[in-house]
Amino acid sequence: MAEEPEVERNTEVTMDEIVALAKRRGFVFPSSEIYGGLGSTYDYGHYGVLLKNNVKNEWWRSMLTERDDIVALDSAILQHPKVWEASGHLDGFTDPLVQCLGKCKRRWREDHLREAIAEDGGDPKGEIHCPECGGELSPPRNFNLMFQTHMGPVVEDGNAVYLRPETAQGIFINFKNVLNFARKKPPFGIAQIGKSFRNEITPGNFIFRTREFEQMEMEFFVPPADAGEWYEKWIGIRRDWYLNLGIRESFLMVRPHEDDELSHYSSRTSDIEYLFPIGWSELEGIADRGDFDLTQHQNHSGEKLEYFDQQSGERYLPHVIEPAAGADRAALAFLVDAYDTEEVEGRERTVLKLHPRLAPVKAAVLPLFNKEGMPEQAQAINKVLRAAGIQTEYDSGGSIGKRYRRQDEIGTPWGITVDFDTKDDGMVTLRDRDSLEQNRVPIEGLPELLAGKLIEPWKSPKTG
Ligand code: ATP
Repeated sequence: MAEEPEVERNTEVTMDEIVALAKRRGFVFPSSEIYGGLGSTYDYGHYGVLLKNNVKNEWWRSMLTERDDIVALDSAILQHPKVWEASGHLDGFTDPLVQCLGKCKRRWREDHLREAIAEDGGDPKGEIHCPECGGELSPPRNFNLMFQTHMGPVVEDGNAVYLRPETAQGIFINFKNVLNFARKKPPFGIAQIGKSFRNEITPGNFIFRTREFEQMEMEFFVPPADAGEWYEKWIGIRRDWYLNLGIRESFLMVRPHEDDELSHYSSRTSDIEYLFPIGWSELEGIADRGDFDLTQHQNHSGEKLEYFDQQSGERYLPHVIEPAAGADRAALAFLVDAYDTEEVEGRERTVLKLHPRLAPVKAAVLPLFNKEGMPEQAQAINKVLRAAGIQTEYDSGGSIGKRYRRQDEIGTPWGITVDFDTKDDGMVTLRDRDSLEQNRVPIEGLPELLAGKLIEPWKSPKTG
């Protein structure tokens, strides 16, 4: 097992503070709230949508724009039930459910209870009790996590279908289509972002574990002999992705799975873990799936899924290296990592020190006062920036200090203030969210200035 780095727990932020900020500023709301909410489902508001879109765009950028050996796919959520038979999900996608037989009757995941005991230095194989009321627990039962529904107007045997519990299978069943049309040969990848559904026994911790979530998965098909090399490469690439987007290094670790943790399809897996306020937890898994999935689909469908290498005359089933991440969980990690409170000129400010590319709004355009043509000038700047594709927000309400703080809370990296001198000198004040530096810069060239800043290497100004 990997050594956990020595680090002070991120005590400055609790999950409750993140939830409160997310709600207060309209990032994420509990779903169906006017009806009392529906357990562990969430709706994303304006800033939440922008943030999560930025996370997904950065993922696409790293998979598609910055490389030419990966192609995109968007497969259906509903797939032939045989897909889940072949993939092993119908039989094997289960969690061990135990229920309290004492007072509280709560349900738990047995493996989670045993992990918690091991972390506290206890015997994970010993007797376990309900953590809530100390009651006796039922024997474990394998609970299948797939949501079932029915295709067509009549609910009857034989028309059951499942909401996909992962996006990966949609990729495997399209392997042949992509081979025929994308003109790629191993090593190459197929990437997909989309919703997945799991009837989790214990969802919770805000958007960390929900029953409906978005995954960002890429299946990388390689000649079998190269699997080990690509497995290591992808662990490094994916770790760097989080670091380059500002996650602090001491809050990130790669943890190889123990043999008894491995999924049914995997010969080796490493998790990239983040030190959430709930402790070290999985952000993303990188698995060597071997030829498990292609073999299964070949056998169950009767379609040949081999790759024929014309140069060597060899025919083989490629092996697969899979980096599988969660868009919601990544967004949560970025929020947690960015959250800071500090005192500025005697007043406390809450600030999200997000990587500028992840920030929902890039620049706030602010007239210092609502007079002397300042609002009109600010509106004109706002229009130019938006036309250049830069997400801005025009805000003229309240004192300038209050407006800066509002923008700090949603992580806007730059404030552009139009003042009395602007109409004479064509300059505005550019305020930096993190350093709080204020510089006067010409209006002319502002879009280029911000676009340049957005591609500069960036490191979190937070320490720890
Ligand atoms: P866990 O052990 O946390 O249940 P897992 O190992 O089953 O996760 P994978 O099947 O590897 O997860 O899924 C890949 C990624 O999808 C995870 O690393 C996570 O970011 C995301 N993910 C999985 N389940 C959920 C969920 N219920 N809610 C939000 N994100 C999820």
